[in-house]
Amino acid sequence: MNLKIGVIKGDGIGPEIVTEAMKVLNKVAEVYGHTCDYTQLLMGGASIDVHGVPLTDETIAEAKACDAVLMGSIGGDAKTSPWYKLEPSKRPEAGLLKIRKALNLFANLRPAVLYDELKGACPLKEEITEGGFDMMIMRELTGGLYFGERKTEEVNGVMTAQDSLTYNEEEIRRIAKRGLDKANVLDSSRLWRKVVEEVSKDYPEVTVENMLVDNCAMQLVKDPKQFDVILTENMFGDILSDEASMVTGSIGMLASASLNETKFGLYEPSGGSAPDIAGKGIANPIATILSAAMMLRFSFDLDKEADSIEAAVSKVLKDGYRTIDIMSDGKTQIGTEEMGSLIAANIQ
Ligand code: NAD
Repeated sequence: MNLKIGVIKGDGIGPEIVTEAMKVLNKVAEVYGHTCDYTQLLMGGASIDVHGVPLTDETIAEAKACDAVLMGSIGGDAKTSPWYKLEPSKRPEAGLLKIRKALNLFANLRPAVLYDELKGACPLKEEITEGGFDMMIMRELTGGLYFGERKTEEVNGVMTAQDSLTYNEEEIRRIAKRGLDKANVLDSSRLWRKVVEEVSKDYPEVTVENMLVDNCAMQLVKDPKQFDVILTENMFGDILSDEASMVTGSIGMLASASLNETKFGLYEPSGGSAPDIAGKGIANPIATILSAAMMLRFSFDLDKEADSIEAAVSKVLKDGYRTIDIMSDGKTQIGTEEMGSLIAANIQ
């Protein structure tokens, strides 16, 4: 199969971690008889430096012509980077919001998995994490507070969970339909609840439980194993997925996929551009490599190939190799490039 992949290396550690994900993809292509056809796309600060804006319409058109987009991360240090002297609509992050809207990427999937090998990096007590956990945070991505068109529509004073009500029924219906294929689903606004409960009737095999966002934040550290899927709106998903990333040990381990109604998706690590460690060769590329695995699975239906990447990551961790963010006593510390090479070498 020819894999037509748009590549946004982005800013900060972006180019370093994407290069390693491409190394692994190239190895998968070699082992399984595919070809990778990459189109380099500029977004964020890298695009501002060349075009004066964080995302051009031409880049959007080029992204649309690909089957999927693999992205590093965008943005810089808000205190020192000249990008943040620009008006908000011209800053790096505006490119991210624009591409999500333009490609209609309304469903964001963030798996949060505690690997057995990384238990030591988890800040929670051992009795809480015993047996590990494996959850999916499914977040609505093109509405809510970040896109405030309907911001004040039905706000009634109490900001509990999804009470911002910046969604219409249709928006919630599409995310609920995508989300309801696992056990627990969380939500709280009256509109959100109404639509999710309605949609859930079509999926009797799925248990739906409503939970307020403040309780959910608490439960995530008290008993993360109780969750299979957390379905929530944009801003709460953003915050809860960062919390989930912390309990897995490092944000450098967490992949994500942003999907629309077709097979098209944008795949990126959950973390940002980490300007504090950019250029040092120490960033963890695993989240980006696992995002590439999600891309093979969701956009190209290549399950075996995706499995091979996930197995290679587990093997390298089992063999004791760690980047600095997940380093613990008795393990071997390696850099970004070496981690990518070891994972590529373990693709079977
Ligand atoms: P961040 O995720 O970049 O960094 C938070 C901490 O996690 C830092 O200490 C960083 O060193 C560490 N970290 C992140 N990724 C890592 C990795 N792969 N390996 C090892 N350590 C890693 O968050 P931030 O500092 O709040 O944001 C920095 C920039 O990233 C900002 O400009 C922000 O807007 C941008 N950002 C971009 C995205 C995106 O592109 N989707 C997402 C979040 C933040």
